[in-house]
Amino acid sequence: MSNQSKVHEIRWNPLIRQWIIVAGHRGRRPWRPEEKGLACPFCPGTPETKDLGVWDVIVLPNKFPALSPKPLKVPRFHTGFFRVRRAIGVCEVIVETPMHEGDLCNIDLDHTRKVVDVFTKEYSRLGSLNYIRYVAEFRNKGKEIGVSLTHPHSQIYALPFIPPRIMCELKSFKRYYIKKNKCLLCDIMKIEYKEGSRLIYENKCFIALLPYFAMWPYEIHVYPKRHVQALSDLNEEEKLHLADILRVITATYNTLFEKDMPYMMVFHQKPTDKRNYSYYHMHIEFYQPYRDKDKLKYAAGIEWGFWVFTYDGIPEKKAYELREACSKALKKLDKYLGKIP
Ligand code: ZN
Ligand code: ZN
Ligand code: FE
Repeated sequence: MSNQSKVHEIRWNPLIRQWIIVAGHRGRRPWRPEEKGLACPFCPGTPETKDLGVWDVIVLPNKFPALSPKPLKVPRFHTGFFRVRRAIGVCEVIVETPMHEGDLCNIDLDHTRKVVDVFTKEYSRLGSLNYIRYVAEFRNKGKEIGVSLTHPHSQIYALPFIPPRIMCELKSFKRYYIKKNKCLLCDIMKIEYKEGSRLIYENKCFIALLPYFAMWPYEIHVYPKRHVQALSDLNEEEKLHLADILRVITATYNTLFEKDMPYMMVFHQKPTDKRNYSYYHMHIEFYQPYRDKDKLKYAAGIEWGFWVFTYDGIPEKKAYELREACSKALKKLDKYLGKIP
């Protein structure tokens, strides 16, 4: 095969019933350009950003997109057996600040609120495209989890299918709703309040906690107190409080071991295929790869090969450490709207 970089399609794995995005051209994407003396593409004044004038948050097309709005045509079945479809979709990057370094806690509250606004707008805009069924919004930070560009940014994958993890959550929420006529997450929140041992921070509209069933050592979930399905359901006050809690949680991570912490932040929202998902409750999950100051937790044989997670430690103890880190972080933060529960 001479033109392997042209392979761009979504292949079906019939063993675990999941779609895999195959993008030959992504093998060529740059790894840490500044280490080779090249300019950061997200800083002001580069070819990518120079026509945008003065900006504080910008949305750029992903230069090496896993999905594209005008993908190559592919047969529905490869050799009549394997299922395959076009790699249709949209991949974007949200550059959160012109500043080259830092985290959400290093930009001020109003600025972070603009970042939340962009997440909200893009969710609605991309979700309204007829070929998009799910808008996956997330933020990867740190070389430990393979981030190729250090400039603060998040990503959006607008997908033509609903991701398996979301499918699984939808099923659980629906089942719980049918059985109890209540929302699973609203009930989890009630229990966590009563118990208290895993709570980390709360403000008027959101709560942050380490879940009872955490899979990652310092996993943090952020739940809106109101039963809402997506960012687009939030009112102005809630968006400001979401910005607040995102700043506090990232500051808490950076304070925990007194170092710049890597993490994944993912938004779990309802699909955008116009069906009724009123039983779902949106939330944000943070996975952080360290299990101790300088020990990484790897997803290895048991986790990847069997989808069985082991938790090295006691969730309530880790939650206590996070609460302590949070109270230290609040002292350093210029502004915050909530308190430690
Ligand atoms: Zn930069
Ligand atoms: Zn709910
Ligand atoms: Fe979730």
